[in-house]
Amino acid sequence: MGQGQRELTSVSSPHAATLGIDADFPGGNVRVEQIIADTVYFGPDLRDTSGEWFYWNFRALSSIPKTWYFKATKSNLMTGLGAAYSLDGGETWHWLDRNDHLSDRLFSFTFDRADQAVRFSMGMPYTQRDLARFLTGFQGDHRIALDELCISERGRSVEKLAIGSRSASPSYNVLVTARAHACEMMGNYVMEGMISALLSETPEMKALAEQVSFWFIPFLDKDGVEDGDQGKNRIPRDHNRDYSGESIYASTRSLREQVPKWVGYVPWVGIDLHNPWIKGENNEWIYFVGNANPAISSEQERLVEILAKGHRGPMKFTENEGFLPFGVAWNTGSNYDQGASFGQWAAGFHGRGLKMVTTLEFPYALNHGQMVTTEGAHAFGVDLMYALGEYLDIGK
Ligand SMILES: [Zn+2]
Repeated sequence: MGQGQRELTSVSSPHAATLGIDADFPGGNVRVEQIIADTVYFGPDLRDTSGEWFYWNFRALSSIPKTWYFKATKSNLMTGLGAAYSLDGGETWHWLDRNDHLSDRLFSFTFDRADQAVRFSMGMPYTQRDLARFLTGFQGDHRIALDELCISERGRSVEKLAIGSRSASPSYNVLVTARAHACEMMGNYVMEGMISALLSETPEMKALAEQVSFWFIPFLDKDGVEDGDQGKNRIPRDHNRDYSGESIYASTRSLREQVPKWVGYVPWVGIDLHNPWIKGENNEWIYFVGNANPAISSEQERLVEILAKGHRGPMKFTENEGFLPFGVAWNTGSNYDQGASFGQWAAGFHGRGLKMVTTLEFPYALNHGQMVTTEGAHAFGVDLMYALGEYLDIGK
């Protein structure tokens, strides 16, 4: 299992109620400070993260039906909706009931039967197991090939899904990546939506899949995802700062080697799926991050415009807030001392094959005040794929 600390903390109260807490499963992460009476004091296990971050994902098992309280030991460890919980071992997730979201550092949960295990997290965790379950829906579908980008540092397979045109000269190649930052799981639900759309049988999507070759990399930091790391601001540099000099991670090194060979002389598009900070300004709506290159930026704006006009799913998306121009808020290019990002690396191919590269920031919990759900994220991915088809002028 992971290199991080694995804890099993339990406490007995006078009425023989015990609560066990652990993170000993894929994606698990917690640091339990103490349990006093009916309150658990917890925070994230930061491991090799520089500074603070907020990913945690633990299992709690109550010996009897009872309400327990969970108190974050620092601020900014819970989203605007508090925490998410799962009653089925992490398969499906829901945001806490409003009445259980007691403050920005405290939530409660009522276990309604003895020995009930409930998962809690600041988001809706997604690991290899979830990808495997998603892919069973496409077994035997010759249009999708589960390949391997590389083997990770810790010996895991980093998946590469090849979908679409097998022609040596498709109209375009499109590379979609997620989890450069291990904790940013909401991007995987968007990716599922993109893949589902692409493999649907509508005329637009059939045309797109016939004419465009796609690579999807669901877990760039596969070890971080499975071990439950933060991933963001990893020391000495994280996966999204590993695109210059000598790459220190196999996945980024492999992308830098394989993508130029794959795309050849065919124009290509890169889409890197991220989640923003945990809450607040610029973190509670869906937006694309403007590239420093004005020519790429105007291509991004075209995609944003198409998406804002045509999207049908429940997640609100606006042309104005849906694009963060270069030079605004955190997007100033001043944050790259440790190395180049995916966007900067891909932008280096502009004028020699790259049509557009973009980063998407998809929020964890709140989008323009509405609740983010896995279904909503999935639907947004569907919309994004349709917008991409229209942007590439295919299937119309
Ligand atoms: Zn990120």
